[in-house]
Amino acid sequence: MRHLLIGLSVLLFVAATVADATDSTQASTLKVIVIDPGHGGEDTGAIGPNGTTEKSITLQIALRLKDAIEDRLPYVNVVLTRTDDTYISLKERTAIANRVRADLFLSIHANAAYRRGASGVETFFLSLEASDNDARMLAAIENNMVPIESEDGMDSKKEVDELTSILWDLTQTETHHESQLLAEFVHTSLVEAVKEENRGVKQAPFIVLAGATMPAVLVEVGFISNPEEEIRLSRKDYQERIAHAIAGGILNFEKEISRIAYEE
Ligand SMILES: [Zn+2]
Repeated sequence: MRHLLIGLSVLLFVAATVADATDSTQASTLKVIVIDPGHGGEDTGAIGPNGTTEKSITLQIALRLKDAIEDRLPYVNVVLTRTDDTYISLKERTAIANRVRADLFLSIHANAAYRRGASGVETFFLSLEASDNDARMLAAIENNMVPIESEDGMDSKKEVDELTSILWDLTQTETHHESQLLAEFVHTSLVEAVKEENRGVKQAPFIVLAGATMPAVLVEVGFISNPEEEIRLSRKDYQERIAHAIAGGILNFEKEISRIAYEE
């Protein structure tokens, strides 16, 4: 039931924004990139065994990523959804990206698991169905999900079918395909650079990705719940390595998009 409720609330949100999504076309050259440091303010995100907060790690990496992108793609305008310790709702994050007409949206997070030894990086793009159980759990945590029951119970099959078809339409768009491509390029570059466990490119119903009208991915850069990774993630040189790897992935994505556009 909980999965269904999470799926439904994502669908409802998507339904509100799908009209914009369908007419979005990817320019062959990136002009505006929005980087979203996960969490902020009262929303600390995950907290490591030594007290490191996810919100501080994501902001530090996002700031370094902005510099890394501007170094390698000087013609790109990089916009952060937050530059300090401020709370921003999940909806507002993609609303910012839509407002500045971003060509890419990239949300940065750090992972957490009950199993202390869990480690590695994983990159997500949006789908209604999660790739696996871990992905489903993670989306529920990152979505800050409290199961929502509407007054009429929201169990009408017709309504569910309609919403599913809206999401299906969205996943058929070029933008959705490009989200997958972006996830793969960023992930490959990141795994190569950090040499940590490769947990793969996955799909899950993340609300923060659902409102984006441009290619959008969510990167889990490591497990803050793992004491060793918590220390690594706090280190400046490691954050720089992550930032440069993600920037490299974006660069490779742009090359691929330009190549496809040229061939067409
Ligand atoms: Zn997070």
